[in-house]
Amino acid sequence: MQRAKKRAIISAVALAAALGQTPGSRRNPATSERAIESNVMYALLSTGDRVETERAVLWFDRGATTPEQRNGLAERVNKGIADLEQFIGVRFDSSRFPIPPTGLPADFAQKVPYFVTDAAGISHLDHFGHPRLFLLLRRLSTDSIPYLHETVHLLLFQTPSQQGRLESWLAEGTASYIEDYIVEHAGGQRSGLFSKNGNAGVDAEALAYLNTEDGRSIVPFIGAHGEPSALRSDRANIAAPFYVLSQSFCKYLFETIGRSKMLKLNTAMWEEPGTTEEKLEAISGKSSEVWRKEWLQSIGYTPN
Ligand SMILES: [Zn+2]
Repeated sequence: MQRAKKRAIISAVALAAALGQTPGSRRNPATSERAIESNVMYALLSTGDRVETERAVLWFDRGATTPEQRNGLAERVNKGIADLEQFIGVRFDSSRFPIPPTGLPADFAQKVPYFVTDAAGISHLDHFGHPRLFLLLRRLSTDSIPYLHETVHLLLFQTPSQQGRLESWLAEGTASYIEDYIVEHAGGQRSGLFSKNGNAGVDAEALAYLNTEDGRSIVPFIGAHGEPSALRSDRANIAAPFYVLSQSFCKYLFETIGRSKMLKLNTAMWEEPGTTEEKLEAISGKSSEVWRKEWLQSIGYTPN
């Protein structure tokens, strides 16, 4: 029994590695990512080390962590969910999602499911169906698991019948801003995914990126439609400035138009047709181009 369980974990890891490297998976990344996620999830459900709290259930790669590490993260996650629910003003409610939690034990339907693993790629929300969060286990050793950032994505995510599209600058900038806000005001652990010094330092970091060519190449995507083509593949040169500039811009908007309008902008994307730019203008009274100009000025950047 023990041996069979071990094999299940190993084969999930091998499958993830194999799928991630075959040319076929590039042709249809969504399908192979879902296959990896499902296989990893089933392996963890049957063999992972599980910790359950009031608001969450966490499964960890078997034997990869100490009970102290598992319980420590579970406690932070449990408190983080409550802090985020208060900030955002919504409660996790799995009945909001039309697809039942396939594979998840029914007792856990009202708890947020986290899979803490090195077998499913970088930390992310899997929203194909019932939402599940994957957290990259190896970040546990550096106390930098982005549980707050990813949980923001989950709480702001609504039914997948959306008319609009949640733009990456808004989704990522909002999640990073809220993570740092919560850590500063309610405690918890920041991931430092890209910004080094949180909301207090993100404008200076954004300005530093704007003095580089890669950083300047990001500006047209901030407050606008689409994302840089290398966002997923070039974490160091493209994702880093993209996340930092998005966080700085969203921080400016949170502090200027206020929390409720920014949260409304995030959720409006799921509820009504229209672009983010149109919604930002309708909600705030100014076009995103004007907001971008004012934000760049506010952080001290003057384009040549
Ligand atoms: Zn994110």
